[in-house]
Amino acid sequence: MRERVHNRRNTEQGGGGVTSSMFDRMLRIDVGRKQSSLWTVPDDVRCYLGGIGYGVKILCDEVDPRINPLSPENKIILTVGPLTGTSVPMHAQSCIVTKSPLTGTILNSYAGGFLGAEIKFCGLDGIIFEGAATEWSLVLIDNDSARFESAVDMIGMTTEEAENFIKEKYGFDYRTLSIGPAGERGVAMAGAFSETRAFGRGGAGAVFGSKKIKAIGVRGSRSVTTADAHLFGKLSAQNMDVLRHARAEEYGLLGIFSKYGTGGGMPLVQGRGALPTKNHTYGSFEDAEKIDGPYFEENLYTRRIACFGCPVHCGRIHKFSGANGKKLWGRGPEYETMFSLGSNLLNGDAETLAEANRLTELYGVDSLTVGVTIAWALEMAEAGKLSVPGLDLRFGNADAVLGLLHMICMREGMGDMLAKGPRQAALELGNDSLASAMQVKNSGFAAWMPRRMKGTGLAYATSNRGACHKRAPIGAEIAGVLDMDSYEGKAAVLIETQNTVNAIFTLISCRFHEFATDHEFYPEIVAAATGRVIQWDEMVTLGERIWNLEKLFNLKAGLTRADDKLPGKCFEPVLGKTSQASVMEEEKFEAMLDEYYSLRGWDSEGIPGMKKLDELGIADYAM
Ligand code: SF4
Repeated sequence: MRERVHNRRNTEQGGGGVTSSMFDRMLRIDVGRKQSSLWTVPDDVRCYLGGIGYGVKILCDEVDPRINPLSPENKIILTVGPLTGTSVPMHAQSCIVTKSPLTGTILNSYAGGFLGAEIKFCGLDGIIFEGAATEWSLVLIDNDSARFESAVDMIGMTTEEAENFIKEKYGFDYRTLSIGPAGERGVAMAGAFSETRAFGRGGAGAVFGSKKIKAIGVRGSRSVTTADAHLFGKLSAQNMDVLRHARAEEYGLLGIFSKYGTGGGMPLVQGRGALPTKNHTYGSFEDAEKIDGPYFEENLYTRRIACFGCPVHCGRIHKFSGANGKKLWGRGPEYETMFSLGSNLLNGDAETLAEANRLTELYGVDSLTVGVTIAWALEMAEAGKLSVPGLDLRFGNADAVLGLLHMICMREGMGDMLAKGPRQAALELGNDSLASAMQVKNSGFAAWMPRRMKGTGLAYATSNRGACHKRAPIGAEIAGVLDMDSYEGKAAVLIETQNTVNAIFTLISCRFHEFATDHEFYPEIVAAATGRVIQWDEMVTLGERIWNLEKLFNLKAGLTRADDKLPGKCFEPVLGKTSQASVMEEEKFEAMLDEYYSLRGWDSEGIPGMKKLDELGIADYAM
């Protein structure tokens, strides 16, 4: 790990040379004109701390919510946070905010790895991509300048090929981000991939594709400064100790993730009858033990991998046999993909799952939404509503999974309809198929069954980016701290979760960091890093401010209460040994949604009231 943390006055920094881990400048890249310029981050953006805060504030200020997300008017705001590239563990991620072509909403999407730290080493708090090129480009960023190379020869490359191409031709010290064939073709769920880590959710890869950016390379040589190096070092070391201790706890979540990867949690979800199976028909999968974390660990494991500065090492490289018998290596699958390309498709074969997961990375597509879309297609096929010549569309048929995956990513035949996402595909197919499309705002459900976990169901419905599991009370519901089946009090818990997670996403903490870290740590480390004094409750209010800005963006884009809705299948009984007849009652769900709006200070249509916006200091953004 390269670590470059110093306490010194850096006159290259903005902000009048104040020592801080933030540089107060971002690189604006006008893709159409092939120009770049440094932009000093103004005070009204700086008070959003970084990460999602910067991205949401800038997008709301600069992009009309009504634009076509694949038009040159859309922007991609790629940000880092005050702790990125420092010695604080589990702060490797970077954040993309843009208007999503999948959901039509504002999107925030995250990837770990090493890209974020490298952006920081460029002396930047982020990069803004504007406009669109007329020919395919590779953007190479060295410190604070960008240059453009033709990417015409890279078209058709997988994300892995693109990464290798950049490193071999331009230098192995570039950190890369690339799109695959799916992003080139505007597949609505295409992701952007950075050396096996993905900005998966919401279609950021298609937005890069619309700007004709095939890839970027980032290489920096700057140091990251801190306001109080002694205190910063002490807090960082203490936090590392806490996390190492948590990692050593065999039955703690970090211990399980460290030992088995995120798939280590699958037996727990299965045991609670909340593992979505066969397009969310059942709550448990009889072959779960053949595709979970422990199975992969015992049979396909080769080594652990981690993001920059992380002691947990939740990533895995697995070795498996591909469909053609060839030995292959691939990262993951993560737990979410064990659901989306495993249990939800009745796929109980770990090697098929590993190959499908690897294909999503090579083509460059979100493994969650593409799996959910395939599950819907299989259900429609079994109901006689959809067919593909030469492909036996049955649950449990590996050829169907791999075949549909290829067709979606290449937009071939039926794949062209499916590439628009599960909701859009269902609207196109008609024939009462929408109720079975397990999505909110066209974004596929994650690996947690909302009918079993009522708070998580409300989280999916109200998510500003659609079906989001990162801001759901999953841990409390699965662990039984909250009664999974109860509706009582879930709205209040969810609001607190959404605001809190948005607060720590201004620092772009790994979602698992909070599992073993007290909230008081965050304002303390922010002060040591930036010199900025902020209380934890102020950070949570900032999280709420960001949540309301996102909501206003979506409302202006044309979304309504009808978009905060679960699909019809959620209101039918879920089947399976451990979850027999469990159901989400529609009336009770609507009552939870009413309560949620009311507690948020919104009206019955979900429109934030002036009192709330005044309180948050964002009245200027009112409808
Ligand atoms: S826990 Fe996993 S995702 Fe989080 S920082 Fe560590 S390696 Fe990355």
